[in-house]
Formats: sequence, structure tokens, C-alpha cells
Amino acid sequence: MLTKRFETKLIHSVKKGNLPIRSKVTPIYQTSAFTFDNLEDLEGYYQGEGNYLYSRTGNPNPDELGQMVAAVEGAPTGIATSSGLSAILAGILTVVKSGDHIVAADDVYGGSFHLLHEELKQFGVETTFVSFGDLEQVEKAIQPNTKMLYTESITNPLLRVENLPAVVELAKRNDLITVVDNTFATPFHCNPYELGVELVVHSATKYIGGHSDITAGVVVGREDLVEKARAKVTNLGANVSPFEAWLTTRGLKTLAVRMQVQSSNARKLADALRNNPNIARVYYPFEEEATGFGAMVSIELAKTVDVSQFFRSIGWVKLVPTLAGVETTVTHPLKTSHRALPPEAQEALGITNELVRISVGIEHSEDIITVFEQAIEKSLK
Ligand SMILES: *Cc1c(COP(=O)(O)O)cnc(C)c1O
Repeated sequence: MLTKRFETKLIHSVKKGNLPIRSKVTPIYQTSAFTFDNLEDLEGYYQGEGNYLYSRTGNPNPDELGQMVAAVEGAPTGIATSSGLSAILAGILTVVKSGDHIVAADDVYGGSFHLLHEELKQFGVETTFVSFGDLEQVEKAIQPNTKMLYTESITNPLLRVENLPAVVELAKRNDLITVVDNTFATPFHCNPYELGVELVVHSATKYIGGHSDITAGVVVGREDLVEKARAKVTNLGANVSPFEAWLTTRGLKTLAVRMQVQSSNARKLADALRNNPNIARVYYPFEEEATGFGAMVSIELAKTVDVSQFFRSIGWVKLVPTLAGVETTVTHPLKTSHRALPPEAQEALGITNELVRISVGIEHSEDIITVFEQAIEKSLK
């Protein structure tokens, strides 16, 4: 069999539809339902003979997105959902029910924290949050009713790289399912399924879509679990629209070229800012030399810099509470993603007023470095 490398799989992982009209790209199946010629065909659908019935239960565009991400993650199958958060919800509900317990990393995405800590708690699912930097703490938090370990391959905003093989080993030893949010690393840099993680979830709103024009999510992983997650998505109405799924697959085809440039630009920016005396600290996974490790860089401005003035001085860089587009953007985690945390938790996690999170884009690396160096110059106290 002809083997395909990552970049090739991005473009050629999914077979074309079997319609007689042979369009080069998959068309948008902007329809809420599908027709049948007769009762036998309808019965065939229920016997698993293919075709589609109703778009909430299945549509070629979301299916293509789920299959494409599965192919590049090295997982057998995948499904698309309406958002990253609904992908996370579907993944979690696939594994736990009322009365079960989850051990989650204490530095997960704010929305995931809220989902676990507020929403799922009301339905009898308890979560203990601990630092996954210390796996002894994780092991100690496991209870007789624990079913799942939940973490992220790279965390937000301090970009801690999870030791996934060690997490998986711990999970397997305790008979737990591991669910990992791979949004920041993307399938280009990290394939948790190949490391033994049973379910991988993504906010496709970020790098997979890549152009800040959709909201979508993906769950990929072990076939039996993904099929259960598919039922959750159908029953909860968490399906993504055909058009958004179509835009997301269009974005996904260029993931490799975008990530190469964005990660390389991020590395150059992180190196340049590391030597700037007005920056107290640069957060970037510098040790991941071989592949680079993503396009997010966080910086802690030194006390010599006026933080408000800095955000007024960043030129063409937009202040926007998302990440992963082709444009370089910044956020202020203390006042956005981590706003709701109690001050002690903010401090414990290192979320200070001086912390700036940068999502590095595809502009020229020298221009990106210059815009930040000038912003710092212009905002010295
Ligand atoms: C944005 C994000 C989510 C939530 O995704 P939505 O598409 O906004 O629902 C989950 N995890 C991480 C790491 C994210 O950055």
C-alpha cells in the first residue's frame, strides 16, 4: 500500500463521494435531511447500508471533517461537533455518568474548568483538579469511582507540555480512560492517540480551522468510544452545520504549511524576546527542538513596562480573546480567560497582570519581532 505522510494525509485522506457529479472538492451538503427512493432504501439506511437520513444524525461535511482529523491524528475514526466545548462534553459523557469521578489538570482551559466544576457537578459528576506536573498528586487523587484522567497536550496560557506517555501509563495501571485536549499542539505537532490516549478532543475553532471564521470541535480516538460520542452529539444536538464543517476542512488542508510557518515564527519571537531586558519571562516549550512546539508564546512583562500602554502600542497586532488564526494576536489572560478564577488560584497558576499571551501568525518573522520590540520601547515607564 502506498504510505502517506502527514502533509499528504491532510489533502488525500478521505475518499470522494459516490455521486455521479464529480466535483474536485466536496460540495457543501446544505440540507437538513436526505431523501429515499422507496421504503426499501429507507430500511437500508437503518440496516447500516450507508446514505444519510437527517443532518443532526449525520451529514457528509461534518463526517469528512471528523475523518480528516482522525486520519492525521493516526486514530481509527472521528466526529465533528458544534464547538470545542461540545466536543469536550461529548468526550466526557462518553466515559462518565452520574456518581463517577474525574481527575483533571488544574491548568485546563477556562471553559473546560467551568464545564467540569459547575455544569457536570450538577449532574453528579465530581472532578478533582490537581497539578499534572506532579503525577504523584494525580495518583493520590484517584478514588474507587474515578473513571477518567483529563488534561491538555500543551496548556494555556503558560504552555506546559504534558508528559503524555507517563499520564497514559498511570491511567492504564489504574484502569482509567485518558481524554486529552490537543487544541494548542494540533495534530501536526502531537498525536496523543498514538501515545495511548483513548479520546482526543479539539477546538477546531483554533488551528484546525485556522482562519478565525468558524466555531467547531472534533473528537477522535478508539472506535467504540467515538461511536458513543457520536450518539451523544446526535442526542444533545451538538452537531456542526455543513457550511462550518466545510470551511473547517478547507482550513485543515493547509494545517501543515500554516503550522510550519507559525511555529517557526513563534520560536524566533520567543528567542528574540528572551533576550529583552524588559521582559521578565518568556514561556515557550524551547526544549522541543526537533519539531518545534506550537505557535503560542506567553511573556511576562518586566515591572519597567506599563501594561496598559503596551496593549495600546502593539500596532497591527489585534487584542482578541481567541488564538490560532493566520494573524498575530494577543490576549491578556488575567482579564479574559482566567478572569473568573479566585485571586489565589490566579497567583498559584502564575496568571499575573504582566502576562501577555501571543498567538503567532504567518506574517514575516522580522515584522512580528519588530512590532513587539517597539511596543515595549513605547511603553517603558
Ligand atoms: C478555545 C478552546 C476550547 C473551547 O473551544 P470552543 O471552540 O471555543 O468551544 C477548548 N480547549 C482549548 C484548549 C481552547 O483553546
